[in-house]
Amino acid sequence: MKDFCKMTLTEAVAGLRAGAFTSVELVRALIEAMEASQATIHAYVTIDGEGALKAAEEADRRRAAGEDLPLLGVPIAIKDNMNVIGQPCTASSHILEGYTAPYDATVIAKLRAAGAIFLGRTNMDEFALGSTTQTSYFGPTENPVARGCIPGGSSGGSAAAVGGDLALAALGSDTGGSIRQPASHCGIVGVKPTYGRVSRYGIVACASSLDQVGPMTKTVEDAALVMNVISGRDPMDATSLDEPVPDYTQAWAGADAEKPLAGMVLGIPAEYYGEGLDPEVRARVEEAKARAVALGATLKDVSLPHTAYGIPTYYICMTAEISANLARFDGVRYGLRVPCDDVIEQYKRTRAEGFGAEVKRRVLLGTFVLSSGYYDAYYNRAQKVRTLIRRDFEAAFAQCDLLLAPVTPEPAWPLGVYQNDPIRNYLSDVLTVGVNLAGCCAIALPAGTTAEGKPVGVQLIGPNFGEMTLFKAAKALELPRA
Ligand code: GLN
Repeated sequence: MKDFCKMTLTEAVAGLRAGAFTSVELVRALIEAMEASQATIHAYVTIDGEGALKAAEEADRRRAAGEDLPLLGVPIAIKDNMNVIGQPCTASSHILEGYTAPYDATVIAKLRAAGAIFLGRTNMDEFALGSTTQTSYFGPTENPVARGCIPGGSSGGSAAAVGGDLALAALGSDTGGSIRQPASHCGIVGVKPTYGRVSRYGIVACASSLDQVGPMTKTVEDAALVMNVISGRDPMDATSLDEPVPDYTQAWAGADAEKPLAGMVLGIPAEYYGEGLDPEVRARVEEAKARAVALGATLKDVSLPHTAYGIPTYYICMTAEISANLARFDGVRYGLRVPCDDVIEQYKRTRAEGFGAEVKRRVLLGTFVLSSGYYDAYYNRAQKVRTLIRRDFEAAFAQCDLLLAPVTPEPAWPLGVYQNDPIRNYLSDVLTVGVNLAGCCAIALPAGTTAEGKPVGVQLIGPNFGEMTLFKAAKALELPRA
Protein backbone atom coordinates (compact mmCIF):
# COMPACT_ATOMS: atom_id res chain seq x y z
CA MET A 1 0.00 0.00 0.00
CA LYS A 2 1.11 3.53 -0.66
CA ASP A 3 2.31 5.52 2.28
CA PHE A 4 -0.40 8.11 1.96
CA CYS A 5 0.68 10.04 5.03
CA LYS A 6 4.14 10.73 3.65
CA MET A 7 2.80 12.23 0.44
CA THR A 8 3.12 15.88 -0.42
CA LEU A 9 0.02 17.80 -1.36
CA THR A 10 1.19 17.97 -4.96
CA GLU A 11 1.68 14.18 -5.08
CA ALA A 12 -1.76 13.61 -3.60
CA VAL A 13 -3.38 15.92 -6.17
CA ALA A 14 -1.56 14.14 -9.01
CA GLY A 15 -2.41 10.68 -7.68
CA LEU A 16 -6.09 11.47 -7.32
CA ARG A 17 -6.17 13.01 -10.77
CA ALA A 18 -4.50 9.96 -12.31
CA GLY A 19 -6.91 7.62 -10.52
CA ALA A 20 -4.02 5.91 -8.68
CA PHE A 21 -6.10 5.95 -5.49
CA THR A 22 -9.31 7.44 -4.16
CA SER A 23 -9.94 10.26 -1.76
CA VAL A 24 -11.60 7.77 0.61
CA GLU A 25 -8.40 5.70 0.74
CA LEU A 26 -6.32 8.80 1.36
CA VAL A 27 -8.60 10.20 4.06
CA ARG A 28 -8.96 6.82 5.78
CA ALA A 29 -5.18 6.40 6.04
CA LEU A 30 -4.71 9.89 7.42
CA ILE A 31 -7.51 9.62 9.98
CA GLU A 32 -6.02 6.36 11.23
CA ALA A 33 -2.59 7.92 11.66
CA MET A 34 -4.07 11.05 13.24
CA GLU A 35 -6.06 9.09 15.79
CA ALA A 36 -3.15 6.82 16.65
CA SER A 37 -0.89 9.81 17.36
CA GLN A 38 -3.29 11.76 19.57
CA ALA A 39 -2.05 10.19 22.81
CA THR A 40 1.52 11.27 22.07
CA ILE A 41 1.87 14.13 19.55
CA HIS A 42 -1.62 15.56 20.14
CA ALA A 43 -1.58 17.67 17.00
CA TYR A 44 -5.37 17.93 16.86
CA VAL A 45 -8.03 19.39 19.11
CA THR A 46 -10.78 17.62 17.17
CA ILE A 47 -10.82 15.06 14.38
CA ASP A 48 -13.88 14.81 12.16
CA GLY A 49 -13.34 11.31 10.75
CA GLU A 50 -16.95 10.71 9.84
CA GLY A 51 -17.47 14.07 8.16
CA ALA A 52 -14.18 13.78 6.27
CA LEU A 53 -15.03 10.32 4.96
CA LYS A 54 -18.42 11.51 3.76
CA ALA A 55 -16.78 14.45 2.00
CA ALA A 56 -14.22 12.07 0.48
CA GLU A 57 -16.95 9.81 -0.90
CA GLU A 58 -18.62 12.85 -2.40
CA ALA A 59 -15.31 14.00 -3.92
CA ASP A 60 -14.74 10.56 -5.45
CA ARG A 61 -18.24 10.67 -6.93
CA ARG A 62 -17.62 14.09 -8.40
CA ARG A 63 -14.35 12.98 -9.92
CA ALA A 64 -15.99 9.88 -11.39
CA ALA A 65 -18.52 12.24 -12.96
CA GLY A 66 -15.68 14.07 -14.71
CA GLU A 67 -15.19 17.05 -12.38
CA ASP A 68 -11.68 18.33 -11.78
CA LEU A 69 -10.75 21.01 -9.28
CA PRO A 70 -7.31 22.06 -7.96
CA LEU A 71 -7.81 20.26 -4.62
CA LEU A 72 -10.70 17.87 -5.29
CA GLY A 73 -10.76 15.24 -2.54
CA VAL A 74 -7.60 16.52 -0.85
CA PRO A 75 -7.65 16.75 2.96
CA ILE A 76 -6.23 19.85 4.64
CA ALA A 77 -5.79 20.37 8.40
CA ILE A 78 -7.08 23.65 9.83
CA LYS A 79 -5.88 25.60 12.85
CA ASP A 80 -8.57 25.72 15.50
CA ASN A 81 -9.11 29.47 15.08
CA MET A 82 -10.74 29.33 11.64
CA ASN A 83 -14.48 28.82 11.21
CA VAL A 84 -15.47 25.69 9.30
CA ILE A 85 -19.25 25.44 9.19
CA GLY A 86 -20.59 22.73 11.49
CA GLN A 87 -17.27 22.06 13.19
CA PRO A 88 -16.16 23.23 16.64
CA CYS A 89 -13.91 26.29 16.68
CA THR A 90 -12.35 26.86 20.09
CA ALA A 91 -9.04 28.68 19.44
CA SER A 92 -7.88 26.17 22.10
CA SER A 93 -9.73 28.16 24.77
CA HIS A 94 -12.13 26.97 27.46
CA ILE A 95 -14.27 30.01 26.76
CA LEU A 96 -15.12 28.70 23.27
CA GLU A 97 -15.65 25.09 24.30
CA GLY A 98 -18.93 23.93 22.84
CA TYR A 99 -19.06 26.62 20.15
CA THR A 100 -19.89 25.36 16.67
CA ALA A 101 -18.98 27.50 13.65
CA PRO A 102 -22.13 28.78 11.93
CA TYR A 103 -20.31 29.73 8.71
CA ASP A 104 -17.12 29.19 6.71
CA ALA A 105 -14.21 31.62 6.96
CA THR A 106 -13.38 32.97 3.50
CA VAL A 107 -10.17 30.91 3.29
CA ILE A 108 -12.23 27.81 4.09
CA ALA A 109 -14.91 28.71 1.53
CA LYS A 110 -12.17 29.12 -1.06
CA LEU A 111 -10.53 25.79 -0.19
CA ARG A 112 -13.94 24.12 -0.20
CA ALA A 113 -14.73 25.58 -3.63
CA ALA A 114 -11.40 24.12 -4.79
CA GLY A 115 -12.55 20.69 -3.58
CA ALA A 116 -10.62 20.39 -0.29
CA ILE A 117 -11.78 18.31 2.68
CA PHE A 118 -11.46 19.37 6.34
CA LEU A 119 -10.57 16.43 8.50
CA GLY A 120 -9.33 17.97 11.69
CA ARG A 121 -8.69 21.07 13.73
CA THR A 122 -5.16 21.59 14.93
CA ASN A 123 -4.04 22.53 18.41
CA MET A 124 -2.68 26.00 19.11
CA ASP A 125 -1.76 28.39 21.87
CA GLU A 126 -4.95 29.77 23.39
CA PHE A 127 -6.22 32.51 21.03
CA ALA A 128 -2.86 32.25 19.19
CA LEU A 129 -1.03 33.87 22.10
CA GLY A 130 2.24 32.07 22.52
CA SER A 131 5.11 30.36 20.78
CA THR A 132 4.99 26.85 22.24
CA THR A 133 1.38 25.51 21.97
CA GLN A 134 1.60 24.95 25.72
CA THR A 135 -1.06 27.55 26.53
CA SER A 136 -3.75 25.41 24.87
CA TYR A 137 -6.63 24.64 27.25
CA PHE A 138 -6.60 21.12 25.78
CA GLY A 139 -2.98 20.37 26.65
CA PRO A 140 0.27 20.76 24.74
CA THR A 141 1.39 19.32 21.41
CA GLU A 142 4.71 17.50 21.15
CA ASN A 143 7.23 18.09 18.39
CA PRO A 144 7.08 15.01 16.14
CA VAL A 145 10.69 15.43 14.96
CA ALA A 146 12.47 16.75 18.06
CA ARG A 147 10.61 14.44 20.42
CA GLY A 148 10.05 15.74 23.93
CA CYS A 149 10.33 19.32 22.69
CA ILE A 150 7.84 22.06 21.92
CA PRO A 151 6.57 22.17 18.33
CA GLY A 152 6.65 25.97 18.46
CA GLY A 153 3.51 28.07 18.29
CA SER A 154 1.02 29.33 18.13
CA SER A 155 0.28 27.12 15.07
CA GLY A 156 2.11 24.21 16.73
CA GLY A 157 -0.61 21.68 16.00
CA SER A 158 -0.55 22.48 12.28
CA ALA A 159 3.27 22.27 12.21
CA ALA A 160 3.32 18.99 14.15
CA ALA A 161 0.61 17.53 11.91
CA VAL A 162 2.51 18.33 8.72
CA GLY A 163 5.98 17.61 10.14
CA GLY A 164 4.79 14.34 11.67
CA ASP A 165 3.04 13.14 8.49
CA LEU A 166 -0.37 13.51 10.14
CA ALA A 167 -1.59 15.94 7.46
CA LEU A 168 -0.62 16.60 3.85
CA ALA A 169 -0.83 20.35 4.46
CA ALA A 170 -2.35 22.74 6.95
CA LEU A 171 -3.38 26.34 7.44
CA GLY A 172 -1.90 28.42 10.21
CA SER A 173 -2.12 32.06 11.22
CA ASP A 174 0.81 34.38 11.85
CA THR A 175 0.51 37.48 14.04
CA GLY A 176 4.11 37.64 15.17
CA GLY A 177 5.66 34.47 13.80
CA SER A 178 3.06 31.78 14.52
CA ILE A 179 3.40 30.14 11.11
CA ARG A 180 7.13 30.56 10.55
CA GLN A 181 8.43 29.68 14.01
CA PRO A 182 6.57 26.35 14.41
CA ALA A 183 7.33 25.51 10.75
CA SER A 184 10.99 26.05 11.55
CA HIS A 185 10.85 23.90 14.71
CA CYS A 186 9.06 21.03 12.92
CA GLY A 187 11.11 21.05 9.70
CA ILE A 188 8.42 22.22 7.29
CA VAL A 189 7.61 25.19 5.02
CA GLY A 190 5.46 28.07 6.32
CA VAL A 191 4.35 31.24 4.56
CA LYS A 192 3.31 34.50 6.19
CA PRO A 193 1.66 36.36 3.31
CA THR A 194 1.72 40.13 2.85
CA TYR A 195 -0.88 41.83 5.07
CA GLY A 196 -4.02 42.06 2.94
CA ARG A 197 -3.09 39.20 0.60
CA VAL A 198 -5.37 36.69 2.35
CA SER A 199 -8.80 37.38 3.88
CA ARG A 200 -9.12 37.35 7.66
CA TYR A 201 -12.91 36.98 7.57
CA GLY A 202 -14.02 34.14 9.81
CA ILE A 203 -10.70 33.84 11.65
CA VAL A 204 -10.83 34.30 15.42
CA ALA A 205 -9.07 37.65 15.58
CA CYS A 206 -5.82 37.86 17.49
CA ALA A 207 -4.35 41.27 16.60
CA SER A 208 -6.23 42.47 13.53
CA SER A 209 -3.53 44.73 12.11
CA LEU A 210 -0.94 41.93 12.28
CA ASP A 211 -2.81 38.67 11.54
CA GLN A 212 -2.46 36.78 8.26
CA VAL A 213 -3.46 33.22 7.39
CA GLY A 214 -0.98 31.14 5.42
CA PRO A 215 -0.01 27.63 4.32
CA MET A 216 2.12 25.18 6.31
CA THR A 217 3.33 22.43 4.00
CA LYS A 218 5.99 19.84 3.27
CA THR A 219 7.33 21.63 0.19
CA VAL A 220 7.54 25.07 -1.39
CA GLU A 221 5.44 23.91 -4.33
CA ASP A 222 2.67 22.77 -1.95
CA ALA A 223 2.69 26.18 -0.26
CA ALA A 224 2.39 27.90 -3.65
CA LEU A 225 -0.53 25.65 -4.54
CA VAL A 226 -2.41 26.59 -1.36
CA MET A 227 -1.58 30.30 -1.78
CA ASN A 228 -3.14 30.18 -5.27
CA VAL A 229 -6.41 29.09 -3.70
CA ILE A 230 -6.62 31.24 -0.56
CA SER A 231 -5.27 34.59 -1.83
CA GLY A 232 -7.23 37.54 -3.12
CA ARG A 233 -9.58 40.37 -2.29
CA ASP A 234 -12.59 39.55 -0.13
CA PRO A 235 -15.50 41.98 0.17
CA MET A 236 -16.01 40.66 3.72
CA ASP A 237 -12.54 41.88 4.82
CA ALA A 238 -11.95 45.56 4.15
CA THR A 239 -8.22 45.12 4.79
CA SER A 240 -7.83 42.56 2.02
CA LEU A 241 -6.35 44.15 -1.07
CA ASP A 242 -7.39 44.05 -4.67
CA GLU A 243 -4.06 42.90 -6.08
CA PRO A 244 -4.06 40.33 -8.88
CA VAL A 245 -3.28 36.77 -7.74
CA PRO A 246 -0.55 35.31 -9.93
CA ASP A 247 -0.05 31.56 -10.30
CA TYR A 248 2.50 31.08 -7.53
CA THR A 249 3.45 27.63 -8.82
CA GLN A 250 4.89 29.43 -11.86
CA ALA A 251 7.25 31.54 -9.73
CA TRP A 252 10.28 29.41 -10.63
CA ALA A 253 9.23 28.62 -14.22
CA GLY A 254 11.96 29.37 -16.72
CA ALA A 255 14.63 29.89 -14.06
CA ASP A 256 18.15 28.90 -15.09
CA ALA A 257 18.73 25.28 -14.03
CA GLU A 258 22.27 25.91 -12.77
CA LYS A 259 21.88 29.44 -11.49
CA PRO A 260 18.19 29.94 -10.65
CA LEU A 261 19.02 32.89 -8.41
CA ALA A 262 21.15 34.72 -10.98
CA GLY A 263 20.57 38.46 -10.69
CA MET A 264 18.90 38.19 -7.30
CA VAL A 265 20.26 40.27 -4.42
CA LEU A 266 19.68 38.83 -0.95
CA GLY A 267 20.05 41.27 1.91
CA ILE A 268 21.67 40.05 5.12
CA PRO A 269 20.29 42.14 7.99
CA ALA A 270 23.10 42.45 10.54
CA GLU A 271 20.68 42.79 13.47
CA TYR A 272 19.23 39.32 12.81
CA TYR A 273 22.65 37.70 13.26
CA GLY A 274 23.52 39.24 16.60
CA GLU A 275 24.31 38.03 20.06
CA GLY A 276 22.18 35.19 21.38
CA LEU A 277 21.89 33.36 18.09
CA ASP A 278 22.50 29.66 18.75
CA PRO A 279 25.74 28.52 17.04
CA GLU A 280 24.08 25.60 15.30
CA VAL A 281 21.26 27.83 14.01
CA ARG A 282 23.89 30.26 12.77
CA ALA A 283 25.77 27.44 11.03
CA ARG A 284 22.67 26.20 9.17
CA VAL A 285 21.79 29.74 8.06
CA GLU A 286 25.37 30.33 6.89
CA GLU A 287 25.06 27.17 4.79
CA ALA A 288 21.85 28.51 3.25
CA LYS A 289 23.70 31.73 2.41
CA ALA A 290 26.47 29.75 0.73
CA ARG A 291 23.90 27.73 -1.25
CA ALA A 292 22.24 30.95 -2.38
CA VAL A 293 25.57 32.24 -3.67
CA ALA A 294 26.30 28.96 -5.45
CA LEU A 295 22.88 29.27 -7.10
CA GLY A 296 23.75 32.69 -8.48
CA ALA A 297 22.51 35.13 -5.81
CA THR A 298 24.51 38.10 -4.60
CA LEU A 299 24.59 38.79 -0.86
CA LYS A 300 24.45 42.34 0.44
CA ASP A 301 24.86 43.53 4.02
CA VAL A 302 21.88 45.62 5.07
CA SER A 303 20.58 47.04 8.33
CA LEU A 304 17.21 47.04 10.07
CA PRO A 305 18.26 49.53 12.75
CA HIS A 306 15.07 49.45 14.84
CA THR A 307 15.08 45.66 15.31
CA ALA A 308 15.81 46.00 19.02
CA TYR A 309 12.49 47.85 19.46
CA GLY A 310 10.55 45.09 17.71
CA ILE A 311 9.60 43.08 20.80
CA PRO A 312 8.38 45.99 22.98
CA THR A 313 6.56 47.53 20.02
CA TYR A 314 4.92 44.26 19.05
CA TYR A 315 3.87 43.43 22.61
CA ILE A 316 2.24 46.85 23.01
CA CYS A 317 0.43 46.85 19.65
CA MET A 318 -0.66 43.23 19.85
CA THR A 319 -1.85 43.31 23.46
CA ALA A 320 -3.82 46.50 22.77
CA GLU A 321 -5.59 44.80 19.87
CA ILE A 322 -6.12 41.50 21.65
CA SER A 323 -7.67 43.26 24.64
CA ALA A 324 -10.19 44.90 22.31
CA ASN A 325 -10.82 41.77 20.21
CA LEU A 326 -11.37 39.49 23.21
CA ALA A 327 -13.92 41.86 24.78
CA ARG A 328 -16.59 40.06 22.74
CA PHE A 329 -16.13 36.88 24.80
CA ASP A 330 -18.46 37.73 27.62
CA GLY A 331 -20.59 34.63 28.13
CA VAL A 332 -23.52 36.14 26.26
CA ARG A 333 -22.88 35.41 22.61
CA TYR A 334 -20.36 32.59 22.36
CA GLY A 335 -19.33 29.40 24.14
CA LEU A 336 -18.93 29.22 27.90
CA ARG A 337 -21.31 31.01 30.29
CA VAL A 338 -20.97 30.96 34.06
CA PRO A 339 -24.56 31.92 34.94
CA CYS A 340 -25.22 34.61 37.48
CA ASP A 341 -28.17 36.91 38.28
CA ASP A 342 -26.10 40.02 37.83
CA VAL A 343 -24.90 40.49 34.24
CA ILE A 344 -21.65 42.28 35.16
CA GLU A 345 -20.85 39.53 37.62
CA GLN A 346 -21.64 37.00 34.87
CA TYR A 347 -19.13 38.66 32.52
CA LYS A 348 -16.49 38.59 35.20
CA ARG A 349 -17.00 35.00 36.25
CA THR A 350 -17.20 33.75 32.67
CA ARG A 351 -13.98 35.51 31.70
CA ALA A 352 -12.22 34.52 34.91
CA GLU A 353 -13.05 30.88 34.33
CA GLY A 354 -12.89 30.83 30.54
CA PHE A 355 -9.53 32.48 29.85
CA GLY A 356 -6.13 31.02 30.67
CA ALA A 357 -3.28 32.85 32.41
CA GLU A 358 -1.50 34.06 29.26
CA VAL A 359 -4.73 35.45 27.79
CA LYS A 360 -5.46 37.33 31.02
CA ARG A 361 -1.91 38.69 31.14
CA ARG A 362 -2.23 40.11 27.64
CA VAL A 363 -5.72 41.53 28.15
CA LEU A 364 -4.45 43.31 31.27
CA LEU A 365 -1.37 44.61 29.50
CA GLY A 366 -3.40 45.74 26.48
CA THR A 367 -6.00 47.46 28.61
CA PHE A 368 -3.22 49.24 30.46
CA VAL A 369 -1.43 50.55 27.36
CA LEU A 370 -4.73 51.84 25.99
CA SER A 371 -5.92 53.51 29.20
CA SER A 372 -6.11 57.27 29.39
CA GLY A 373 -2.94 58.63 30.91
CA TYR A 374 -0.85 55.77 29.47
CA TYR A 375 -2.11 55.79 25.89
CA ASP A 376 0.33 58.45 24.73
CA ALA A 377 3.26 57.01 26.62
CA TYR A 378 2.82 53.47 25.33
CA TYR A 379 0.31 52.81 22.56
CA ASN A 380 0.82 56.02 20.65
CA ARG A 381 4.57 55.77 20.92
CA ALA A 382 4.55 52.14 19.82
CA GLN A 383 2.58 53.10 16.72
CA LYS A 384 5.26 55.62 15.85
CA VAL A 385 8.03 53.09 16.34
CA ARG A 386 6.05 50.67 14.21
CA THR A 387 6.31 53.18 11.37
CA LEU A 388 10.07 53.37 11.87
CA ILE A 389 10.27 49.58 11.70
CA ARG A 390 8.25 49.55 8.48
CA ARG A 391 10.59 52.16 7.03
CA ASP A 392 13.60 50.00 7.95
CA PHE A 393 12.20 47.26 5.74
CA GLU A 394 11.37 49.69 2.93
CA ALA A 395 14.93 51.05 3.01
CA ALA A 396 16.36 47.53 2.97
CA PHE A 397 14.19 46.52 0.00
CA ALA A 398 15.50 49.52 -1.92
CA GLN A 399 18.85 47.72 -1.88
CA CYS A 400 17.90 44.06 -2.27
CA ASP A 401 15.15 41.74 -3.54
CA LEU A 402 14.71 39.67 -0.39
CA LEU A 403 16.22 39.34 3.07
CA LEU A 404 17.71 36.08 4.31
CA ALA A 405 17.76 35.44 8.07
CA PRO A 406 17.25 32.88 10.80
CA VAL A 407 13.63 32.31 11.93
CA THR A 408 14.23 31.76 15.63
CA PRO A 409 17.30 32.38 17.78
CA GLU A 410 17.43 28.77 18.98
CA PRO A 411 16.09 25.31 18.12
CA ALA A 412 13.03 23.83 19.86
CA TRP A 413 13.43 23.55 23.62
CA PRO A 414 12.06 20.78 25.87
CA LEU A 415 8.37 20.87 26.79
CA GLY A 416 7.78 22.55 30.12
CA VAL A 417 10.95 24.66 30.10
CA TYR A 418 10.31 28.43 30.28
CA GLN A 419 6.61 27.67 30.67
CA ASN A 420 6.30 30.10 33.53
CA ASP A 421 8.63 32.67 32.06
CA PRO A 422 6.58 34.83 29.69
CA ILE A 423 9.36 37.33 29.03
CA ARG A 424 11.68 34.53 27.92
CA ASN A 425 9.01 33.37 25.50
CA TYR A 426 8.35 36.89 24.21
CA LEU A 427 12.04 37.45 23.52
CA SER A 428 12.20 34.35 21.32
CA ASP A 429 9.95 36.17 18.81
CA VAL A 430 12.62 38.77 18.04
CA LEU A 431 13.31 37.55 14.49
CA THR A 432 9.69 37.17 13.37
CA VAL A 433 7.64 40.11 14.73
CA GLY A 434 9.27 42.76 12.51
CA VAL A 435 7.69 41.25 9.40
CA ASN A 436 4.20 41.50 10.92
CA LEU A 437 4.77 45.04 12.17
CA ALA A 438 5.93 46.03 8.67
CA GLY A 439 3.20 44.04 6.90
CA CYS A 440 5.53 42.40 4.40
CA CYS A 441 5.73 38.71 3.43
CA ALA A 442 8.07 35.91 4.49
CA ILE A 443 8.61 32.18 4.13
CA ALA A 444 10.30 29.79 6.54
CA LEU A 445 12.12 26.84 5.00
CA PRO A 446 13.92 23.83 6.47
CA ALA A 447 17.68 24.44 6.56
CA GLY A 448 18.88 21.17 8.11
CA THR A 449 19.11 20.08 11.71
CA THR A 450 21.27 20.42 14.79
CA ALA A 451 23.64 17.58 15.74
CA GLU A 452 20.83 16.28 17.95
CA GLY A 453 18.44 16.22 14.99
CA LYS A 454 16.35 19.26 15.85
CA PRO A 455 15.06 21.04 12.76
CA VAL A 456 16.45 24.50 11.96
CA GLY A 457 14.77 26.91 9.59
CA VAL A 458 15.83 29.87 7.51
CA GLN A 459 13.50 32.68 6.49
CA LEU A 460 13.30 34.73 3.34
CA ILE A 461 11.54 38.06 3.75
CA GLY A 462 10.03 39.93 0.81
CA PRO A 463 8.51 43.35 0.20
CA ASN A 464 4.73 43.84 0.05
CA PHE A 465 3.26 41.49 -2.54
CA GLY A 466 6.71 40.08 -3.23
CA GLU A 467 5.44 36.50 -2.90
CA MET A 468 6.48 35.52 -6.44
CA THR A 469 10.11 36.42 -5.74
CA LEU A 470 9.85 34.72 -2.36
CA PHE A 471 8.63 31.47 -3.94
CA LYS A 472 11.24 31.61 -6.68
CA ALA A 473 14.10 31.89 -4.20
CA ALA A 474 12.55 29.42 -1.77
CA LYS A 475 12.16 26.80 -4.47
CA ALA A 476 15.83 27.13 -5.39
CA LEU A 477 17.02 26.98 -1.79
CA GLU A 478 14.78 24.09 -0.78
CA LEU A 479 16.71 21.06 0.47
CA PRO A 480 15.79 17.62 -0.86
CA ARG A 481 13.28 15.91 1.42
CA ALA A 482 14.55 13.03 3.53
N1 GLN B 1 4.65 34.21 19.60
C1 GLN B 1 3.97 35.41 19.29
C2 GLN B 1 3.06 35.78 20.42
O1 GLN B 1 3.09 35.10 21.38
C3 GLN B 1 3.25 35.28 17.99
C4 GLN B 1 1.87 34.79 18.06
C5 GLN B 1 1.21 34.68 16.73
O2 GLN B 1 1.83 34.90 15.69
N2 GLN B 1 -0.07 34.40 16.76
O3 GLN B 1 2.35 36.72 20.36
